[in-house]
This record gives sequence, structure tokens and C-alpha cells, in this order.
Amino acid sequence: MLRVKEIHKSFDDFRAVNGANLHVDKGTLVAVIGPNGAGKTTLFNLITGQLKPDKGEIVFNGKDISKFSPYRICRKGIARSFQIANIFPRLTVFRNIQVSVLSQQGKSTRLFRPARNLAVEETERILESVGLSDKAGNTAGSLAHGDQRTLEIAIALGNKPELLILDEPTAGMSPEETTATMELIKRLAESRGLTILFCEHDMKVVFSVAQSIMVMHQGHSIIQAKPDEVRKNQAVQDAYLGGAE
Ligand code: ADP
Ligand code: MG
Repeated sequence: MLRVKEIHKSFDDFRAVNGANLHVDKGTLVAVIGPNGAGKTTLFNLITGQLKPDKGEIVFNGKDISKFSPYRICRKGIARSFQIANIFPRLTVFRNIQVSVLSQQGKSTRLFRPARNLAVEETERILESVGLSDKAGNTAGSLAHGDQRTLEIAIALGNKPELLILDEPTAGMSPEETTATMELIKRLAESRGLTILFCEHDMKVVFSVAQSIMVMHQGHSIIQAKPDEVRKNQAVQDAYLGGAE
């Protein structure tokens, strides 16, 4: 579904992404891991069009999307969440998701007032699938941190993505919230047949859920393989034990 080939991105002279490769098969859960500063967020920004690569190819469903705008990439079926939660804090949880569902359906809530009553079923379905139904009426800003991050995933689901990209979905979470979020991600992949790509800096978090793990270090990909193989890899041990974090 997605193939990233030898992608490069520099900020001035600094090579943030320096020859990264990644492949994501349809229906799988793929993790990118690497210490802070490895280039994970930059890689995701390249895939979703927030940044343009200096070199390399990004092929999604057979098309090179590396020069597409974020909007066009989203329309092609890639939705994402950000490392720092990106919600409308004063709107209710329900409204946050509904706005995203409506925008996917191409209906503006401002131009078309009755839109308020539209997309209710789809919004409720999403609320249910992420376990936020009982908080639908709360304002988003009043939610606990973990729930805000979950809401962000729900908003991304409103775009009906084929590929969902999550940037450190468990950042700042307690161990309990982290476990719950990992379970949610696994469940979403299974029940919705979604393809999910996410990144993490904590190695331990990913091994129980990801089917394939790409390890990033100083801008390049060291390896992409099944969890067992990654765990045994010497270069991975070195990257993590080499004091990079
Ligand atoms: P990660 O998500 O793996 O922690 P990032 O992709 O955020 O890593 O960052 C990789 C490196 O690129 C870091 O050293 C970071 O400081 C640098 N970087 C990221 N974005 C920018 C930018 N807009 N301008 C300059 N340097 C940046
Ligand atoms: Mg990051």
C-alpha cells in the first residue's frame, strides 16, 4: 500500500531524514521506532505532505504522492494524528468528530446549517469504536490527556482513511493509558481492517502489537522486519544502547 524509497530531508545542513525506507502492506500494523531526534516525525510529515522531500519516492497505492499537498494526500486516503494533540478544545467530543466526518463528506457546517443533524450515525459509530461514547457531550478540552489523544484518533477516523498514521499516540500517557491505547490500536486494525502506521520512542510499547517494525536512527532506517528479528538485531541493540537517548 505504501512504499517509501530512499527518502531525504534536510533542514539547512542538518539531515533529519537521510535515506529512509519503509513499506506498509495493506491490513497490517507497522511501527517506526527510534530514539528522540531519529527523524520519525519528519518522516511522517513527508508521507502526509506537510514537508516535501529533497530526494526519494513515496508511493501510495501505486502513485507517487511525494509532491502532493497534504489536502490531496488526505483525499487519497491517508489520515494522521500529531505528536501534540490537535483538537478543538471548546467543542464537544461529539462535535469534534462530526466536523471531521462532515468535511470528509464535503459538507460545510457553516454554509449548510442543518449539517448539524448530519453524519450523526457515523459519528456515533466512531465514538463507540474508540470507547468515548459516554463522554460525547463533554468539551474536548476538559478530557484527561489520554482521552484527548484517543479523540484525536477518532477525528482521524472521520476522514475514512485507508491508512491511519499516528505520531507517538502514547506520548505523555500513564502506563495504564498506554496499554489501553495500544489495545485500541490493535482493535481498530482488526475490526475496521485498517492499515496503521505509528511511531514510538519506547521499544517496549510496540513489540506486542506491531507486525512489522522499522527502526530509525539518525535519519535512516536500520532495519524493517518482524518483531522477533528486530529484537535480535545487533545494529538495533547498538542504536538503543549507544546512549542516543
Ligand atoms: P523524532 O520524531 O524521531 O523525535 P524529528 O523528526 O522530530 O525526530 O526530528 C529529527 C531531527 O530533525 C531533530 O534533530 C530535530 O531537531 C530536527 N528537526 C525537525 N524539524 C526541524 C525543523 N523544522 N527545522 C530544523 N530542524 C528540525
Ligand atoms: Mg517525533
